[in-house]
Order: sequence, then C-alpha cells, then structure tokens
Amino acid sequence: MTAVDVAIVGGGFTGAAFAIHLSRMAERPLDIAIVEPRGRLGRGLAYDTADPDHRLNAPLPVHFLYPDAPDHLRDWYAGRGGAARDPDAQAPDGSIYMRRGEFGRYVEEQLQDHIAANPSGSTIRHVRSRAVSARRISRGYALSLDDGREVSAGLTVLAAGYDRPTAPPPFDGTISDRPGFLGDPWDTARLREIPADARVLLLGMAQTASDVIAVLLRSGHRGPIAAVSRHGLRTRPRPRTGAGPPPDVVDRIVRPVSLFTAAHGRQASVRGLLRTLRSEARRAEAAGGNWLEPFGDLRDSVWDVWPALPLAEKRRFLRHLRVWYDVHRFQLPPQVETRIAEAEAAGQVSFEAASCVSAASDNGTLSVTLQRRGGGERRREAFDAVVNCTGPGMRPDRSTNPLVRALVARGFAVPHPAGVGFRVDEESRAIGAGGRADPHLRIVGPPTYGAFADQQGASFIALRLHRIVPDIAAAFRR
Ligand SMILES: Cc1cc2nc3c(=O)[nH]c(=O)nc-3n(C[C@H](O)[C@H](O)[C@H](O)COP(=O)(O)OP(=O)(O)OC[C@H]3O[C@@H](n4cnc5c(N)ncnc54)[C@H](O)[C@@H]3O)c2cc1C
Repeated sequence: MTAVDVAIVGGGFTGAAFAIHLSRMAERPLDIAIVEPRGRLGRGLAYDTADPDHRLNAPLPVHFLYPDAPDHLRDWYAGRGGAARDPDAQAPDGSIYMRRGEFGRYVEEQLQDHIAANPSGSTIRHVRSRAVSARRISRGYALSLDDGREVSAGLTVLAAGYDRPTAPPPFDGTISDRPGFLGDPWDTARLREIPADARVLLLGMAQTASDVIAVLLRSGHRGPIAAVSRHGLRTRPRPRTGAGPPPDVVDRIVRPVSLFTAAHGRQASVRGLLRTLRSEARRAEAAGGNWLEPFGDLRDSVWDVWPALPLAEKRRFLRHLRVWYDVHRFQLPPQVETRIAEAEAAGQVSFEAASCVSAASDNGTLSVTLQRRGGGERRREAFDAVVNCTGPGMRPDRSTNPLVRALVARGFAVPHPAGVGFRVDEESRAIGAGGRADPHLRIVGPPTYGAFADQQGASFIALRLHRIVPDIAAAFRR
C-alpha cells in the first residue's frame, strides 16, 4: 500500500487545479497523489480533445486557473503565439475562443511546472489507474485501484467530474448495445467512423449535440442530421448588441454579497428570481443592451443565490427550469454557431421538439418512432446512427463510476437531497450517512452541483478551490 498525505481522485481540470493550489498554499511539503487513468493530467473529459472545432464556450478572459492572477492564461496564450497558430480563434467581435485542447495544454503545463517545483516543496505524483473502491482506515481512507494497488491518504479528494450519459428510454434496453447506437458523444473516434451519408439522430440539442454536429461536419458528413429533445430548447445565440463579457470576472464574483442579491434583495423562490430576471432583461433591451447582462449578473451570483433557496425551490428549479437556464448559461463558440447555422440553412441539420416513443433495431438501422411536442402525430423514421447527447449523468446513486457507487453504498457520502451531486458542507467536506461532515473526504467540482450549483465552469471551480484550500493546507500543519 502506498501512503500519501492527499489522494486526489481524478486528474481533470478540478483535480489538477486542486493539486496546484494546495502545493502553492501548503505550509509543509505534502505527498500528493493524483489517481487518474488518462495518460495526460489537467485535461479530463472537457479538454482532452484534439478536435479543432471543440472550443471554449466563452471568451479567453472568462477562463482562469489562478483567481489571484486571472490574466495568466491570456499572457500564456500570447507567449505561445496562440493567435498566429489558430487564427480562427478570433470571433467577429474580436474575442478569442481558444480550442479546448489548447486550454487543456495550458492546465497540463501548469501542473507539470508545479510537479517540477512548487512553493511548499510538495511532491505531486501521477498514479495512472482508476480508483474502484474505498474503505475507512484509522485516519482517512484506503483506495483500491483497478490494477490491484492500494493508496491510503489522510485526505481523499473526489474530483471525478461528470458521469458518462446513460441511455434514455426507449434506448435504455438492448438497443443501447446495437452498433448504430453511440452512447458516448465524446468518443470522437467513433463519431468519425459514422459513414458520410448516414442518417444521424441526436438525442438532445444543446452543447453536446453541437459538439457532435461540428465533428461530423468537419469530417465531411453529407447525410441528414436530426436533433430532437422533449423541450426543443436550443442554446441561445450570443446577443450581437450591448457590451461584451465584463472584464472584471473575479471582482464580480468575489464579494461579500452577490451582484444580484445586492441589486434585488434575497429571493426565496425561483419564480421570484425568474420574474426579476425577465424584467431586468426587458429594461436592458430597452436601453440598447441585451438579456445577457442581467443573466450574467445572476450567473455570477449563483454561489450566493442558490444556497439560500429552500430545498423545495431547488428541486423546482432542477425539474422545470434547469434546461431553460442551461441554454442561456452555456453558449456556443461563434465559430461553431456559424457552421451549424449554415448546415441548418442548407437543410442538412434540423432541430425538432419531439420525444422518442419507441425504438427498434431493424437490419442494421435503428427505427425510431417520434412524436412532436404537444402530442402531434407519431411517425416512424429510420436512422443509421443514434448519438446520445443528453448530457452527463449527475446522480451519484445511479453512477457508472465504481468509486462513486462504493462511496454511496458504504454511506461515506450521500447524494444531495435536491437530486444532483453529493451532499457537502460549505468547505466541500462530504456529508456521510450519519449526517456528519467528514474532514478526510472532500468532494469538489461538478459533483457538488446540489450544494453550490455553480461548479461547472472552469473559473467557478478554480474560485471555490482557491477559497477552501487555505484551510485544508492549514489542517496539515498539525
Ligand atoms: C464537453 C465539455 C465541454 C466543456 N466546455 C467548457 C468550457 O468551454 N468552459 C468551461 O469553463 N467549462 C467547460 N466545461 C465544464 C467542465 O466540466 C469544467 O470546466 C471542468 O473541466 C470540470 O473538470 P473535472 O476535472 O471536474 O471533470 P472531468 O473533466 O470530467 O474530469 C474528471 C477526471 O476524473 C477521472 N476519474 C473519474 N473517475 C475516476 C476514478 N474512479 N478514478 C480515477 N480517475 C477518475 C476521469 O478520467 C477524468 O479525467 C465543459 C464540460 C464538458 C463535459
């Protein structure tokens, strides 16, 4: 068994950022292990991509790793000649939308620099494996890895990110095993194997579907691509009027009271929030601006607004409003937006508010019965490929990740009562089945959605880590 001070499970953006900030703030040299099966650290699901059309969904200054030096990425990009190497990164309004793979390279490089040397003299090592289970030991946890090794640590940090999407009904039975069904929308190698003239159905029409469309179009796809979702909500286009993204991203978020609460008071219902947002959007538009300005104020206030909502309101938001919120929150890079608009205008790509009622495998094709939203007529269509773009799984109790399942099964961590992610306290300590916060297990990044709601964008994750790591570092003093 290898014994370390800190075992970070997951070496994506969150795990890498945690290791970097801890090694900078630790008051003595720590032995830190990052357990991650990928060969490259710092990339994870979002940034381990070489696809040129996979770009960050917001301009460069909105992304940062160091809240105390938010311009670091901009300087790194300029120093690497980013604009010359990727001229398409520049949008018509002059903003830079980096490739996600390039951002991954930045995070990876930053981590490698800290592995080579860091202010606390800590050791950061990559344990290239997958954690499959955990058991309690006298002080902390011992993790079992899928290669038979064990790592024990006084502090275990779960930074395992998202779960792969699970096939929705009616594809959840044997259909999901058919060769035409692609369950993993981020498996670009498989996407490129889809024959160029295939009839493709995408389940979902938000960001993941747009990524898939961009990959297919670039690889010369000629066949029809139909995207369906029950609500029919598409990612909202970036407004062309009004100001661009605010330059003071950190200042907008790091403040005693959030922008939204300071302007409109504390709201105890999602209905109240929505009403305020709508009237502010109308006011902004009347003044020559756009809805993104008040929406941005709310987005940058979620850290303050969400925890204050009663549980029933959180559930109401997740049930009725989350899809709507997400299509405003996560926009497409303009480069991808334009490409998709062209293919839509040419009739190759279509979007429809419809449900898949039934599906059957029929001589190599997938035959799907679709029903338009509002109870329209049912119709049967044949597709050569169906790609699940319903978005990542967020329920630990239904996770396909063996470690996540083990943590829940053993009561070391419990799902958040809102129904997404884990229950954690303000400092990201896991709350176990006994109801107590566990100082030996922290959960960070997207799996804390239920508690914080804002832990999806890279910068929001970096900000929270930057805030909680000093106390974690101080605990190792003793
Ligand atoms: C396709 C996509 C695009 C995105 N684009 C943007 C964007 O443009 N801008 C933005 O701010 N945010 C974006 N996001 C949000 C993004 O999730 C965060 O920015 C951030 O990357 C989350 O990182 P993470 O490390 O928590 O999760 P992940 O990226 O999911 O990484 C988790 C890592 O944990 C590892 N892991 C999981 N389980 C185990 C285990 N049991 N043992 C060992 N290792 C394990 C996985 O292999 C993986 O590498 C995007 C997300 C996705 C999915």
